[in-house]
Amino acid sequence: MGKLFEETAEKFKSSVMPTYAPQIMFVRGENARLWDDDGNEYLDFAAGIAVCSLGHCNPRVTDAIQKQCAKLVHISNLYMNELMPRLAEKLVNESFGKGGKAFFCNSGAEANEGMIKLARKYGNKTGRSHIISMENSFHGRTLATLAATGRAKYRKGFEPDMPGFSQVPFNDIEALKSAITPDTCAIMLEMLQGEGGVFPADAEYLKAVRALCDEKDILLLCDEVQCGMGRLGTRFAYQKFGVEPDIISMAKAIANGFPMGAIIAGKKCADVFEIGNHASTFGGTPLACAAALAVQEAFDKDGVLENCEREGEFLRAELAKLAEKYSFVKTVRGMGLMIGMVLDRPAGGLASLLLKDKMVALTAGETVLRLVPPLTISRADSQLAVEKIANALTEFAKQEGLQ
Ligand SMILES: *Cc1c(COP(=O)(O)O)cnc(C)c1O
Repeated sequence: MGKLFEETAEKFKSSVMPTYAPQIMFVRGENARLWDDDGNEYLDFAAGIAVCSLGHCNPRVTDAIQKQCAKLVHISNLYMNELMPRLAEKLVNESFGKGGKAFFCNSGAEANEGMIKLARKYGNKTGRSHIISMENSFHGRTLATLAATGRAKYRKGFEPDMPGFSQVPFNDIEALKSAITPDTCAIMLEMLQGEGGVFPADAEYLKAVRALCDEKDILLLCDEVQCGMGRLGTRFAYQKFGVEPDIISMAKAIANGFPMGAIIAGKKCADVFEIGNHASTFGGTPLACAAALAVQEAFDKDGVLENCEREGEFLRAELAKLAEKYSFVKTVRGMGLMIGMVLDRPAGGLASLLLKDKMVALTAGETVLRLVPPLTISRADSQLAVEKIANALTEFAKQEGLQ
């Protein structure tokens, strides 16, 4: 740890609310590489928690931000902004197509708030407002998104819970059917749960959910904040499963690290919000839209999705081979470059060993090592990651007194 870290950590301790506990400081990044304040190089398989999906300081995005911020940074939504409708049109064309519409905001939680408000407004005409979400889900830290989140620990101390939400077990269609009441207006889920432990939905389950929604005029809301924007190898997560939701929310990777969130609604909900119903001061600024348009251009021109599929397949196969060697590794799951290595015990120690070996990785749901590298990693990056994980597993086995 360098002197800069020490100095900064002191200021952090005295002046920043203690909601985070950073142990390391990064000062520079390039694609899947990071450098700390001591000049050490790291392989980054966290990407700012699935945010910098085109790699750190992607030249397209950096160039777009630099050009746009010399021209116009922010102009209120009271005025027309050339880039925002252009981005909306692109995202709609890539998702629901004709009749779909987008709304822009600044974060995942805010996108989900917007999606929840849109669903309630839709339900309002038939007097319905209740939303059913999934156990183990994560939807954000605002009060409404916390109420939707299926992990009680995040809500502890912030009671009372906001009314209007309940959870059912994920991938259990019977549980969902029996939870539906005349007040149900929407079902909300992540097609691949991120924070909850890299847990994908069953395609058959999703088809059954869609059919149930159609039968009862219930909306299907998909939180694609983490699993969307190319992470699963398709531009939108739902495209991987062949089931079309009514509304999707996104954020994290949408502008490769520039803060932005969005919701896109299909025809059914595209015109449910009316003038003055919903707003966000910073929603869709020219600067954010320039960054997001650069991300879309990279998807169109740089083979990002193909690379994601190819490296994801390679990594999952190699990690599955490693899993067989260690009894404490239960399985490897995930899709595209959203990969979980599931242990039979807490995975934090394994992530720490990787960090010591200069590889940044995440955990999810206590026992899962979560890998969400940039979608632009090279085969050499993937091979290096496998090597580092193999070494860390050996070390971890020793530490835990296993073999
Ligand atoms: C990260 C995340 C959120 C919250 O996003 P913020 O930008 O932190 O508000 C919501 N849903 C999912 C699935 C996420 O992974």
